[in-house]
Amino acid sequence: AALAGIEAKNGRLNAFLTVSHESALDQARAVDAKRARGEKLGPLAGVPIGIKDALCTRGVVTTAASKILQGYVPPYDATVVARLRAADAIIIGKTNMDEFAMGSSNENSAYGPVKNPWDPERTPGGSSGGSAAAVAARMVSATLGSDTGGSIRQPAALTGTVGIKPTYGRVSRFGLIAFASSLDQVGPFATDVRGAARVLGVISGKDSKDATSLGAPVDDYEGACGKSVKGLRIGVPAEYFAKGLDPEVEASIRAAISELEAEGCVVRPVKLPHTRYALATYYIIADAEASSNLARFDGVRYGLRVEPSGPGKADLKAMYGATRDAGFGTEVKRRILLGTFVLSAGYYDAYYLKAQKVRTLIRRDFEEAFREVDVICSPTSPTPAFRLGEKVDDPLAMYLNDVYTLPASLAGIPGCSVPAKPTASGLPVGLQIVAPWLEESKMFSVAAAFE
Ligand code: GLN
Repeated sequence: AALAGIEAKNGRLNAFLTVSHESALDQARAVDAKRARGEKLGPLAGVPIGIKDALCTRGVVTTAASKILQGYVPPYDATVVARLRAADAIIIGKTNMDEFAMGSSNENSAYGPVKNPWDPERTPGGSSGGSAAAVAARMVSATLGSDTGGSIRQPAALTGTVGIKPTYGRVSRFGLIAFASSLDQVGPFATDVRGAARVLGVISGKDSKDATSLGAPVDDYEGACGKSVKGLRIGVPAEYFAKGLDPEVEASIRAAISELEAEGCVVRPVKLPHTRYALATYYIIADAEASSNLARFDGVRYGLRVEPSGPGKADLKAMYGATRDAGFGTEVKRRILLGTFVLSAGYYDAYYLKAQKVRTLIRRDFEEAFREVDVICSPTSPTPAFRLGEKVDDPLAMYLNDVYTLPASLAGIPGCSVPAKPTASGLPVGLQIVAPWLEESKMFSVAAAFE
């Protein structure tokens, strides 16, 4: 049924880049055979799951939606993919995204934009737009995405799905094509909170292949859904209800917070004074790390190679140049240039070092706030889904989409987006719930109580 659904809808939505038709059926037969033998089945037995194309899948083309990785077939699975397989899930295909996860609208994919299933003239958000659209269109009930500065939460908000960004280190990054290593986290999209909780439980936990993965025991996230939220303190930061917030989004989120109050939560204001520096800080740190991570794409090791033409051009450096020129899209080039600039001698102290200091201040804002409250609620995105093409020529307007998701990314703490009341014209709105470090369970309790 999932394969038929993808076949029927993908031409219109472009959510999947690769569909593993035969392999998906083989995997399903293997689960059936296991069941027939009376063997114990894993917690995701038979559930078809789409995987963001930034995650390596053994034997299946993995491009991160870049031309530079055209035709690249990884010889191994990312740890999260291996864990899904071990839970008897079915890896059904690879989802579209912004190239190397850089973007907020999915228009930076080298393989065409993803359309929002609620209105195909609008963006599903980014960078995990394919994963979000696939769930929103019910092609599959769950997918994996990655979130560096909002790339799971923002598309979840714009498509009316549930999206989870775990604590930094909660989920292994082994096999995730790196964008900004100190920020990248893998997480699930699902049609409901419990489904997302189950997938997160499967992919979480220490991985000896990722030194930044955390050894803390994995809580029972699914069990946390349904727990009473009576007396739980919800912080509402005034900084997240400022200029630029769409009035319909604001009304929906204020109503959501009142609903939680009716469930017995205690609502109080909190201050996150360094919020206004988050955008500048993020784009310095993320681009710096990207410029270093993307140096490996040189035409020698993976995917595309372009031989330079013209007399005297047949040297190694010219080949690097020709390959990168043809292989990287505009946004990726912009970030490599910005990242290289902020790391360069003479500018390092003024930009990169300063950004690291401000990152600490942003983290401390949250530590202070969480002395007073259990979770923080806000809009996920300042606007509902905007029109394709609307912001594509204005990188700053595009970057502003992430103002509410970036701070939690910089602080390394968990956040999620759950559907709130849609706008009058029927566009989805997302409620963001942010929790302290490793307190995903609290986030799930609130999310499930609201759902
Ligand atoms: N939109 C942000 C960016 O372009 C975040 C992307 C992400 O989380 N991967 O960097």
